[in-house]
Amino acid sequence: MLIKYRVCFDCDNVLNDLTAKMLTVYNARNGTDYAPDVFQHYDMERCVPPDAAKDMTLLFTDDEVLGGLEPPPDAYDVLFFLHKEGHEVFIASNTDYRAAERKAVYLLRCFPFLTPERIIFIANKPLLGVDFLIDDDPGNFKNGLFTRILRTQPWNTASEVSFDHRIDRLNEVIPIIMERQKAESARANSLF
Ligand SMILES: [Mg+2]
Repeated sequence: MLIKYRVCFDCDNVLNDLTAKMLTVYNARNGTDYAPDVFQHYDMERCVPPDAAKDMTLLFTDDEVLGGLEPPPDAYDVLFFLHKEGHEVFIASNTDYRAAERKAVYLLRCFPFLTPERIIFIANKPLLGVDFLIDDDPGNFKNGLFTRILRTQPWNTASEVSFDHRIDRLNEVIPIIMERQKAESARANSLF
């Protein structure tokens, strides 16, 4: 018998391109030329002038930004594979309540095999009782009991918060999960 897991993905900048879309809209409206690698830290105010950071934060709930979100090319295949294999796939997002409904609609459109109760809006992700969390904000890993998988983004390359795995592409989660599944299933089966 193979052990099944609860696998939880962050939404923003893991299952969408929120920061890139936000900058596209910001640049168009302000005549600037920011690219996502301007954010070398998760705190935007440390990376761009305070007024720009404030305006950019407001854009995270902007209709044009939210309406243009797109998933990474391999996201559907990765989540569907895990779902099909019998794992419970969740998505946990620390989203402003004003954007929550639109995010949920986006996620259910991208991943139609998931049901609405698999989408969790939560600010304190270490409370989650899941086996894996895939996130781009290392702050969400502090004191979490899950396996911490950091999705590389410019703002976490210098992170000092510890994590278990770093991935550059979403499909790299599959061998990580399967390896643990193989080891733990073999151990569990040897007990019987
Ligand atoms: Mg995120």
